Amino acid sequence: MRNRKKPGLINSFIKSLAEQIDSKNRQGIRTNRRVTSTNRQGAVIKTCRYWNCNRNIRANHFLCAEHYEDWEDYVIDKCPECGRYKDVEYDTCKDCYDTLTKKNTVKKSNSQFRKEHSKAWDKGDKGVERFFIYILKTEKGEFYVGQTRDLRLRLGEHRDGKTKSISGRDLKLQYYEEVSSRKSAELREVELKKLLHSNERIIRKMIQDFQDRVREVQIN
Ligand SMILES: [Zn+2]
Ligand SMILES: [Zn+2]
Repeated sequence: MRNRKKPGLINSFIKSLAEQIDSKNRQGIRTNRRVTSTNRQGAVIKTCRYWNCNRNIRANHFLCAEHYEDWEDYVIDKCPECGRYKDVEYDTCKDCYDTLTKKNTVKKSNSQFRKEHSKAWDKGDKGVERFFIYILKTEKGEFYVGQTRDLRLRLGEHRDGKTKSISGRDLKLQYYEEVSSRKSAELREVELKKLLHSNERIIRKMIQDFQDRVREVQIN
């Protein structure tokens, strides 16, 4: 008999608990409905100002309940870039971080592959139909791609430190190509600079093949 009574007690406890939950849910639904009807009446729907939070908030709020709590706890603050809110441990929100790093990468790569150019060259270029794209090797074994009208002169400038780009006594000419205009030389220079960055192995192979060809015609 005792055993039969116990489940009955538990059942009634569960039942009252379920009723409590149900009534809370119904309250929740009622609240939601009220918000919805307010929106239907034309209230501005605002979203939480936390950078990636899409929760709708009341017109007189700026953060959702969760993020407002974070804000009160000094866990989040304003992103200096976009004015939305982000975690205090970061300098900017994730969106701004991504945008900033993207910008920096583009800037870096542009300067990395920048063609060599000097206004002073333009005058001497007139009537010239022979330009060189060359690859130098530094003491440390790094490669440098450049282009010039006068290979011998340019190499001397690099070695004497008269260039804005690399300089040094130990620079060694590894490879060169000839083209018929400054424009073609510049295009090829950028192409090889990109290749050097993306696949140095190909550059090494080019140098090797070139030097093999030179050796073939060398008469010592
Ligand atoms: Zn939020
Ligand atoms: Zn931001």
